[in-house]
Amino acid sequence: MSDVGTLIILGASGDLTERLLLPGLGSLIASDDPKSSALATDVRIIGSGRSAKTDEVWRQTVTSTLQAGGASGSAAKALASKASYIQADPTVTEDLGRILGEAEGVPVIYFALPPAIVSEAITAMAEVELPKGTILAVEKPFGSDSRSAAALNRKLEKLVPERQIHRIDHFLGLPTVLGILGLRFANRLFEPIWNAQNIERVEITYDEQLGLEGRAGYYDTAGALIDMLQSHLMQVLSVVAMEPPISMDETEFRAATSQAIRAISLWSGDPVLPGTDGSSRRARYTAGTIEGRKFPDYASEEGVDPTRKTETLAEIALEVRTARWAGVPFILRSGKAIGDPRREIVLTFRPTPFLPTGLSGPRVPERIVLGIHPQTLALDVAVNGRSEPFHLEHAAFDVELAERDLTAYGEVLAGVLGSDPTLSVLGDVAEQCWRIVSPVLKAWRADEIPLDEYRAGSRGPSTWS
Ligand code: NDP
Repeated sequence: MSDVGTLIILGASGDLTERLLLPGLGSLIASDDPKSSALATDVRIIGSGRSAKTDEVWRQTVTSTLQAGGASGSAAKALASKASYIQADPTVTEDLGRILGEAEGVPVIYFALPPAIVSEAITAMAEVELPKGTILAVEKPFGSDSRSAAALNRKLEKLVPERQIHRIDHFLGLPTVLGILGLRFANRLFEPIWNAQNIERVEITYDEQLGLEGRAGYYDTAGALIDMLQSHLMQVLSVVAMEPPISMDETEFRAATSQAIRAISLWSGDPVLPGTDGSSRRARYTAGTIEGRKFPDYASEEGVDPTRKTETLAEIALEVRTARWAGVPFILRSGKAIGDPRREIVLTFRPTPFLPTGLSGPRVPERIVLGIHPQTLALDVAVNGRSEPFHLEHAAFDVELAERDLTAYGEVLAGVLGSDPTLSVLGDVAEQCWRIVSPVLKAWRADEIPLDEYRAGSRGPSTWS
């Protein structure tokens, strides 16, 4: 059971709430683990937004979205029957006071709001007396640069202690990302070779077929670098690169990921170097088709300001300057409107230093490939003896791992409702992520790196392969 009595969602009519947050709660209710499920089954959901909405309409939304996440009809209806909606402006102190006045037990205040509004809402909250134990859940992107992230941290720290602040990055709840821990630390096969002596390169790629999906207002001011790389993929990198934590508790795990993040710098130190030797590349899609769906040029999508030169595909190369990883490029990439999208973490090995004379054939790189959606584990290795006795060939072992029904949002919500911040991002990490990408952002905004083009439905610019 949790002390949390009320989940207050500011921005209840938004995309995040309906598409990810409430379905995530539904998946938590449906969890096989009774302890996890109990965190969600008794919570009172207060939705709030500036738009007018009746309790009845909100309850219908709650019921359908919880069910979409896997909750049974009866469990969803039970939760919805206690839910209510309050029309209010989250940036107005009196309105926030009114919402909190309706809360029962310890409240979680979930800021499902556009990033600029989050900052205003937190400023307005300074004048409200928060009930003891109040938990604040803040979405990414956390601020818009190092300075604003630091300012947001200072404001949040004045409201509640750090362990009651959950900076949400749901990629930390992805089974593939959590699965790195067991793979690395519980297998003698992998742990001794997880370092620069054996690994040549690490690629973390999250491409998607989706385009803007009506979110131009936010996306066109963010772009792929801020939307995906400086937040989600940086967290994935921290789990791949971290030193073994002493334990999986909130302090030790987060100290280990935070140490990895602090050690990151741009690969060449210079975002402006061209091509694959450089630290960054950017591109945006032109008109194309994916599975019969037509995409216009990004620049002519509704709500896009073409003069902004927002990228829809970003790639950066980083180095983790630790004894374990110095000299290994970590390449993060994410793009929209990509045909046949890859979503994976790939570790490519250095060739073995010695090969007996007479054992010959193509040296296909050994690789560990961790697939995200679906969760897969593949090993690419060299074998011989299948065609000719001493001829090398490539062989792949590929398994699809059974996924939990709990979604990544369900996983992070379990932490929020259970007052366990292990999977939430520390304040200094949120600031460090901006430090890492700042030189790239500056160079891109000054147009010092070309904005390449790729056809929607392709795998990216033809010059990038
Ligand atoms: P939306 O653009 O859908 O906005 C959410 C809600 O915020 C709106 O429905 C609106 O409700 C309210 N809002 C908008 N503008 C204002 C304003 N000026 N003043 C007060 N309230 C306002 O955002 P999302 O739901 O997409 O995202 C919310 C947060 O979640 C963002 O930080 C985003 O980065 C993050 N996120 C989103 C994901 C997604 O896929 N959507 C994925 C991961 C993170 P109303 O008009 O009723 O007040």
